[in-house]
Amino acid sequence: MDVQRLRRRGILFIVSAPSGAGKTTISGRALREVGGLEMSISCTTRTPRAGEVDGRDYHFLERADFERRRAAGEFAESAEVHGFLYGTPRSPIDQALAAGRDLLLDIDVQGARQMKARYPEAVAVFVLPPSEGELARRLRGRGTDSPEVIARRLERARAEMAEYRSYDYYVVNRNVDESVRRLAAIVTAERHKVSRLVEG
Ligand code: 5GP
Repeated sequence: MDVQRLRRRGILFIVSAPSGAGKTTISGRALREVGGLEMSISCTTRTPRAGEVDGRDYHFLERADFERRRAAGEFAESAEVHGFLYGTPRSPIDQALAAGRDLLLDIDVQGARQMKARYPEAVAVFVLPPSEGELARRLRGRGTDSPEVIARRLERARAEMAEYRSYDYYVVNRNVDESVRRLAAIVTAERHKVSRLVEG
């Protein structure tokens, strides 16, 4: 065999977590520290938060535009989260996979379910907070949300956490460095699966 000719397909890494579990921090660090990962940029109908840039953090769309694109089959998955629509554009995903590039998708549990149905070789990772009490503490610690909003997020977090068993891996986020190392280990192991090799 010619080892230099070993090629593998690209991998979709899906990361989901209830809000407050620390997913954004972990995926941001993993993007910088684990080589060869790119972030898939989602479309959303919500408005940008301070510091967010259109085309970098999200593609921010009007609802009618989002719905038109969805009807045209432009999304690999889409879901409504907190009253806004979110969707993963299909063509950058298919291009990356065909070119052997790996993507990280930060999507909710509804989206993860749709992606696994469409791309069974995708790797789904669930980030869990160390405890419900810690999650509540982190959500309150943000200091931006009213008690009603926090209560709603906690309720939703409980419902989402009940879904962790449909994922391939879980990471309990007690400490960001440790969680990034674990995510990196998952990425490395998945990259070395013989079943992902293509005949060159
Ligand atoms: P945020 O508005 O705080 O950035 O994200 C809210 C939720 O939407 C998070 O749980 C995030 O993972 C999820 N989300 C972001 N992009 C997508 C997407 O393209 N599809 C789905 N299904 N969920 C998404």
